[in-house]
Order: sequence, then structure tokens, then C-alpha cells
Amino acid sequence: CGIVGYVGPQSALDVVTAGLKRLEYRGYDSAGVAVQADGGLATAKRAGKLVNLEKELGDRPLPAGTTAIGHTRWATHGGPTDANAHPHMDNAGRVAVVHNGIIENFAALREELTERGHELASETDTEVVAHLLAEEYSACADLAEAMRLVCRRLEGAFTLVAVHADEPDVVVGARRNSPLVVGVGAGESFLASDVAAFIAHTREAIELGQDQVVELRRGAVKVTDFDGAPADVREYHVDWDA
Ligand code: GLU
Repeated sequence: CGIVGYVGPQSALDVVTAGLKRLEYRGYDSAGVAVQADGGLATAKRAGKLVNLEKELGDRPLPAGTTAIGHTRWATHGGPTDANAHPHMDNAGRVAVVHNGIIENFAALREELTERGHELASETDTEVVAHLLAEEYSACADLAEAMRLVCRRLEGAFTLVAVHADEPDVVVGARRNSPLVVGVGAGESFLASDVAAFIAHTREAIELGQDQVVELRRGAVKVTDFDGAPADVREYHVDWDA
């Protein structure tokens, strides 16, 4: 439902949780975050309103980090439980992904992954993406490339945003039939399903096109199509007040 990603010098956890708050108006049933820290990923997720996630973060604080992703979920596949809340991870806990939309062919992908020895921990259509990304990443060691390869295997409408423990200060996003906007700051970059999530930080935005993948770094944004060809990007200024 709502997606936020951040890489930059601020507390990534704070930027992302504040961004999720700005997207609350869309309605949701669960929320979660993943932060890159100490060479790994730390996550927290809870069914219910953002206050539940905030309480969890109060009881079990996460590092502030400089790279984080967050999600508010509107369940389509699997009930609104803690386990089904995003982010979802691979079995090694090295990749975390959040998703808006529906992966239509998730059942076939799930079966394939189970046959290869993956253990799926949720009932969502989303979780297959985390496991597929982990497999592709172990072969190419490039998260944007892994995302392109995975997207080519997915059917349906989706916005996906992911981080990998082995790729510090990088957030990767992808979209097909579902909105995703980049926020370009000075030495920091944002990614969200709606500019409202980052408008307090920057008003320079790039709307991702259909079937595009974006690699976000502190001072750089790289957009390609699903085959890796560089895409034209049009930066625009957000005039309205959120
Ligand atoms: N289909 C996914 C799920 O049920 C994502 C739903 C959403 O857009 O929030 O977990």
C-alpha cells in the first residue's frame, strides 16, 4: 500500500517511519521497516496501526542506519498478521523487500523455490521475490541486476523496493502498473509510492516509468528498463503542499 526508501546521512529509520506516517491516509493493516546496519539487516514488523510498530521499536530499538525501507500493507494474499507484514526476507536474512500490488504467478514461483530448498515463512505473494532476489544476487552480486532478472519473471502489478546486506547504501526499486517516485536530495535519495512521503525533505522528483528499475545511492540515481538499457528520466519540481 505505502512504500518508503531512504539512503543518506540522516537517521534512515526516522526518515522512513516519518514517511510511512505521511502515507497513513491511504489505509493499511500492518507496517514494517528494514534497516541496513553492522553488515546485516535489522527488521521490525507488526500487524495493526503504526503505533504497534512504534511500540515494537520502543521495546526492541533498531539502529538508525543510513539506508532503510518501510511499508504499510493492505493485505491481498495472507491475513494481516505479523508474519505476513512486510519487509520479507530470504532464508539467510541478507535481502529485504517490500511490495505493493499482486504477483499473479506467485504460486508457481513458490513451488519452484520450495523444490530448491527455500523455506517460506509467510502466506504472501510477496515473499517469493525476496528468495528469488537472493538467488540472483548470489550469482551476479548486483542488486539492481538481480531485480531486473526477477522482474522479468513476475506477472501482475507491482512496486518493489529492496535492500541487500552486502550492498551498503543502495536501495533498489522497480515498477510495473503501480506508482513509484524518486526524491532527489543533496547527498541523499528517497523512494516512495507517493511524493507526500518525502516532500518535507526534497521537492525534486523523478516519476519512474513502466517496467523500470532504479538504483538509489546517496548522490546518484540510475534508471534502466528491465533489460538493463538506460532509461530517460525527467526530473520535475513538486509545487503543491502535502
Ligand atoms: N500483495 C501483497 C500482500 O498481500 C502486497 C499488498 C499491498 O499492496 O500492500 O502482502
